[in-house]
Amino acid sequence: MSTQAVIHIDRFLRNFHAVKNRVGQCRICVPVKADAYGHGALQIAKTSLEAGAFCLGVASVSEGAELRQYGITAPILIFSQPHPEEIPKIVKSALIPFISDGKFAASLNEYAESKKIQLPVHLKIDTGMKRIGCSADESLSIARFISSCSGLELAGVATHFAVSDSTEEGDIAFTQEQLESFKTAVEKIKADGIDPGIVHAANSGAVILHPDTWFDMVRPGIFLYGYKTAEENDAPDSHKQILAGLEPIHAEPVMEIKTVVSLIKKVKQGETVSYGRTWTAPQDTNIGVLSIGYADGLPRLISNNWQVVISGKTYPLVGRITMDQCFADLGPQTNIRQWSDVQVISDAFKLASAIDTIPYEITCNISKRVQRIYKAYGVFLTNSHFDCL
Ligand SMILES: *Cc1c(COP(=O)(O)O)cnc(C)c1O
Repeated sequence: MSTQAVIHIDRFLRNFHAVKNRVGQCRICVPVKADAYGHGALQIAKTSLEAGAFCLGVASVSEGAELRQYGITAPILIFSQPHPEEIPKIVKSALIPFISDGKFAASLNEYAESKKIQLPVHLKIDTGMKRIGCSADESLSIARFISSCSGLELAGVATHFAVSDSTEEGDIAFTQEQLESFKTAVEKIKADGIDPGIVHAANSGAVILHPDTWFDMVRPGIFLYGYKTAEENDAPDSHKQILAGLEPIHAEPVMEIKTVVSLIKKVKQGETVSYGRTWTAPQDTNIGVLSIGYADGLPRLISNNWQVVISGKTYPLVGRITMDQCFADLGPQTNIRQWSDVQVISDAFKLASAIDTIPYEITCNISKRVQRIYKAYGVFLTNSHFDCL
């Protein structure tokens, strides 16, 4: 295979243990939505559960159902709002939906009752993200309603932060407002004699910057995949107190994208390379044609603005990235041979920054046709390694 995504499981485990050490007794929900941010949901799920994760998070019912088909028995939370038509599948796959409104809860309850089961659900409270979740004002009445449903069990209460990864003072204040509004809502539920179940809020940013948001469980995604989107040391002095006693944590990028030089050709000074003729050779040179393009997830926007590594040396990408191939300038004299290995991405954060996006988008967009290869401590892992977990 010429283009591969090497998934370094040992790095994932180190990132996981960094979180685990930091949050102590608190449980960990591992978001494996979008095929585990492109890393392979099943392998990441198995690795995480073996390492002590409590549950998994997916975006859609079908992502959850797929994990069930592969034998995952741990609790699986659905982070997005399912369609009512998916209710039978939620129940069949024993997935745990977030509840944002009484109407959906009532439909779920009706179906669960008809199947004579009690389905665990988590109440989602929107404290400022304005995505899914009920308003803080409605939360008590919906919690009461869920508690009154014989087909439902209130197994958790959650919220989600909009700017927890920011060290700007205004953003820190916003996260604290979200936190206060969430705490008040949870307290009201408790005061009403309702057990809220597992209380959770923190994404990666909050694991790094907001220890007061950890409650019973944290849901860090991007950090586990190797990207630390906030630094403790950048927090303003007014916030440093809350971080006192916490060692800064470190993340190592888990995914590495590799390809090969499929052809080397001579290009003369003044000749152009690729579509649009955006690059003109400044001198006679050797061009390495690489077997990766935007259909593999290498963003076309990074054309003429990225460097790849071959045998430890860096070479610029030149000319437009095409659907399946791109070009590296190997220079006038080169020892590089056809079929040499090329490291295209080792740090998705760097690539993302160069085109004004985030590492999430880069790893998620590595397409299906790029084979995922799993490695731990330099050793290749096969499916049977994961089956042992
Ligand atoms: C994606 C997601 C997370 C993880 O966010 P990161 O920024 O990757 O840590 C946590 N909770 C919910 C509800 C999400 O959708």
